[in-house]
Amino acid sequence: MYLTQLKIKFVGKIFEDKFYKNINKRYYFYNIKHNQKQNFFSFFISNKIKNKNNYNSEYREFRTFNTYQYQKDKIESLNFLKKVKRFYSINNNIENSNISFLKLKKMSLNVPQVISLDPTVLPVNYTTAINDINIVLKDSVKECCNFDDDIVIFLVHSKSDKDNGNMKIGSQIKDSKINEFLSKNEDIFNGKLGTFKSFYISNDKNKYINLSFIRCGTIDEEMSEFEIRKIVSSLVQILHDNKSVATSIIFEIGINESLFRFFLETVFYEYVADERFKSTDKVDKADNKSGGSGGSGSAENMKSLEIFLKNYNNDYVKQVDKSRTYFMGTYFASQLISAPSNYCNPVSLANVAVELAEKLNLECKILGVKELEELKMGAYLSVGKGSMYPNRFIHLTYKGKGDIKKKIALVGKGITFDSGGYNLKASPGSMIDLMKFDMSGCAAVLGCAYCIGSIKPENVQVHFLSAVCENMVSKNSYRPGDIITASNGKTIEVGNTDAEGRLTLADALVYAEKIGVDHIIDIATLTGAMLYSLGTSYAGVFGNDNKLINKILESSETSNEPVWWLPIIKEYRESLNSKYADINNISSNVKASSVVASLFLKEFIKSTSWAHIDIAGVAWNFKDRKPKGFGVRLLSEFILNHSI
Ligand SMILES: [Zn+2]
Repeated sequence: MYLTQLKIKFVGKIFEDKFYKNINKRYYFYNIKHNQKQNFFSFFISNKIKNKNNYNSEYREFRTFNTYQYQKDKIESLNFLKKVKRFYSINNNIENSNISFLKLKKMSLNVPQVISLDPTVLPVNYTTAINDINIVLKDSVKECCNFDDDIVIFLVHSKSDKDNGNMKIGSQIKDSKINEFLSKNEDIFNGKLGTFKSFYISNDKNKYINLSFIRCGTIDEEMSEFEIRKIVSSLVQILHDNKSVATSIIFEIGINESLFRFFLETVFYEYVADERFKSTDKVDKADNKSGGSGGSGSAENMKSLEIFLKNYNNDYVKQVDKSRTYFMGTYFASQLISAPSNYCNPVSLANVAVELAEKLNLECKILGVKELEELKMGAYLSVGKGSMYPNRFIHLTYKGKGDIKKKIALVGKGITFDSGGYNLKASPGSMIDLMKFDMSGCAAVLGCAYCIGSIKPENVQVHFLSAVCENMVSKNSYRPGDIITASNGKTIEVGNTDAEGRLTLADALVYAEKIGVDHIIDIATLTGAMLYSLGTSYAGVFGNDNKLINKILESSETSNEPVWWLPIIKEYRESLNSKYADINNISSNVKASSVVASLFLKEFIKSTSWAHIDIAGVAWNFKDRKPKGFGVRLLSEFILNHSI
């Protein structure tokens, strides 16, 4: 309501002018109600109590203030408000904060609400069913599979024309009944990649077990992340359908270490269901426990997993722990992305970053509007002006043990919802309904912070940065045609309010360069054009340092997150020229908008080695309607393998 908004502003000013001294408690302005007939206002004030784990806990003081005329000179009658230090107004962006957030490290903040039912917390699970699974690797050449588990899954090569019916299981099998079954049924190995067959047969101990076969392509076909995803999709379907407690997986195919780790990560990722927003979650799980295995509840029952490998060695065993960490980092990112924008907003997301930093012992700094104004981040602040949630700049720091030999800054785009602004995402194909995913870059950076904070590599310092805000339409929003000034002094004409990501990144890159790091890597769902250039499998990487880009490509190999090198084409730079400002945020005529966006970002890097990863095409799994958590492993592998 317009009237309400107007009055809130008015009250805010009173507190600031008259009662800003003598304050010792933090109060938040909470709600306001206007009663026109009786001409009084009532509102209540809450004193939110900071609590590590529960941001909800609060102590409220309800008060009604009667004033007969809301005029500045009569407001002094509200003298019992002396204690009010600062408050949060809900319907506008005024945030009275004279306290530097820089001093208040690890600060968590209250999420603004319009109604009291609005979410105040972004729920994140730090443990999953995967934590309960005991994983053992075995050498299939030396050790026999006993066939005592509920399910035994064979990953087998399919027959090719060359095989002439000679496909056989090579692993050692102790059970005579199973052996007999396998020798008589060679045709079960026929079929396309990822297809499977299941049989229930009794073993030597007369226990019925599920014997499943997943086809993994012929012997000469090279395996990549694409094949693994197909195989795992079938495998997880078998696990969910059978609600198995004990599972054996027998690799009849060869697999290298990094791909094996990727296999495990993908199994975990697909196995765990995100049920944070389902009301039936807990009820079903309880039912399942009492009702036995036939219940209809959660399928995440697995407690033991035995994996038989043909080319087993100790390096594979090491990959198991790493896969658990990479899975959790990826799943953490995925939870942030899949949380809808009413749960995941700039303030609640910054609170999660604070929580993560506390869990991992990372240094944490959250910058609020006041601090960002001091840093003159006009580009970033303009994007968030239309939102009821104030901008929050996240800065976590990991400092490895020993001498620091490399400093790296990772910058993630963090638009918690992108409506497009006044250049509204209204055209077909603009996918406004998906735009909670526009903070996938931020999620990748925080997911990487999880992995690096858990693995704790030495001799390296990593800064995890994200300029988080929401791009909305309101009377306060920035407009097409506005000229705004970034923190390096460059003026930008806003040719299109939907090209907001580069505006937030511009200020974040300037900030990153000021820290004084060896490399800056930004990761962003920046341009929808990526869907046309590389589609949904490959991210594009751009940059000003070929060595750095090559290292990112190597990390792409070992993480199995595909990335392709694209050029920054200087020729297109002039298409960003603005008549009145230093630069326009969109091109007037060049359609290669991913390249143009990189040219724009390059303007905000002076000389530091820099790479830009555009994940707009790859962040979302359109088929399964969920995020991929793309970039967590890529960035983590880069830090672990190439930073030192
Ligand atoms: Zn946009």
